[in-house]
Amino acid sequence: QDTLAKVDPELWSAIQSENRRQEDHIELIASENYVSHAVMEAQGSQLTNKYAEGYPGKRYYGGCEYVDIAEQIAIDRLKKLFGAEAANVQPNSGSQANQAVLMAFAKPGDTIMGMSLAEGGHLTHGMPLNMSGKWFNVVAYGLNEKEEIDYDAMERLAREHKPRIIIAGASAYSLRIDFERFAKIAKEVGATFWVDMAHYAGLIAAGYYPNPVPHADVVTSTTHKTLRGPRGGIILMKAEHEKAINSAIFPGLQGGPLMHVIAAKAVAFKEALTPQFRNYQEQVIANARVMARVLGEERGLRIISGRTESHVFLVDLRSKNITGKAAEAVLGTAHITINKNSIPKDPEKPFVTSGIRIGSPAMTTRGFTEIEAEQVAHLIADVLDAPQDEAVLTRVRSKVAELCARHPVYGK
Ligand code: PLP
Repeated sequence: QDTLAKVDPELWSAIQSENRRQEDHIELIASENYVSHAVMEAQGSQLTNKYAEGYPGKRYYGGCEYVDIAEQIAIDRLKKLFGAEAANVQPNSGSQANQAVLMAFAKPGDTIMGMSLAEGGHLTHGMPLNMSGKWFNVVAYGLNEKEEIDYDAMERLAREHKPRIIIAGASAYSLRIDFERFAKIAKEVGATFWVDMAHYAGLIAAGYYPNPVPHADVVTSTTHKTLRGPRGGIILMKAEHEKAINSAIFPGLQGGPLMHVIAAKAVAFKEALTPQFRNYQEQVIANARVMARVLGEERGLRIISGRTESHVFLVDLRSKNITGKAAEAVLGTAHITINKNSIPKDPEKPFVTSGIRIGSPAMTTRGFTEIEAEQVAHLIADVLDAPQDEAVLTRVRSKVAELCARHPVYGK
């Protein structure tokens, strides 16, 4: 049997380097995680060979009897995990899940309302360069002076513009979202209420963040962030919307579903139903809270919204006179991976920014607890205090190496 190393040494070497990078850097990108061996095994299986256009029991290809089993397992587990009436596990990504909602519930030119990208929302919720912003008339809500979602303004805008769809959900918002309040105003103005829970899905599955499923018409998510599954998307909905959503995914947007990814999603959902996953999510929140406290209270940085109630938070870097772009680069040289992020009313351009986003899911998967979270926060602040100081960078890099060696990801 020819191994990848033998067939394609050039590619194999790139993969080996990436594997090493994942082991010896502290990963703090809020949207990333490390999946289990079992998830990777399912994703690397022969299911990648199979065409299965359609849905279980109703396919346009023969030979689907076993992939039908896999997809039905994924659907059943997902419904159980979030208490949903219906589920679609076929979206190839979070963005495609979101496109399906727009396709199912609105027509080009209709008004939709979502959280502004500049204040924490996602591209697919109406950003001007995204399909959601190009094809729809977008009304955006944002944050109030306390940097909390401005629910009053959101309600005012909803009453004024009567959007076809109201979207709740964010990519860079640390607090709990009041889904009930959104649902109430959506009902009042006759809008479809859609929640994109991509960032919070794992916390929600474990009961540490409010579950939008009882309140929303439709809920989309990625499977690869806090939920710790393979890269991909999912849609949960009320039974009455199942037909519209399923036909928006196929044949509306996609052809053959990625059956190997669906199998890997099924494995991740099984893992998410365990008590260990609950403990993991509790630790994710504890770690984020410790890092926000150390950076905010001990090291003189400003935490956006003042605190975190989830796995993520944003840091205002202006007191350190360093941009998000520069911070991302210098922390990278110290083997700490974060991403630059615009902060509310950011004076810098989105490619530069005045902030960074920090997330705890990946470091928690490798076994970091509050003790390491506190150390990591101090290491970040040490670098931000002296980004030009080679001695500091060398010391931080060696401390990072020590922490990573003590908590291997896949090498256990
Ligand atoms: N929705 C939210 C809230 C996200 O944060 C993201 C990813 O960053 C997406 C959707 C898009 O997911 P994908 O990158 O799989 O298209």
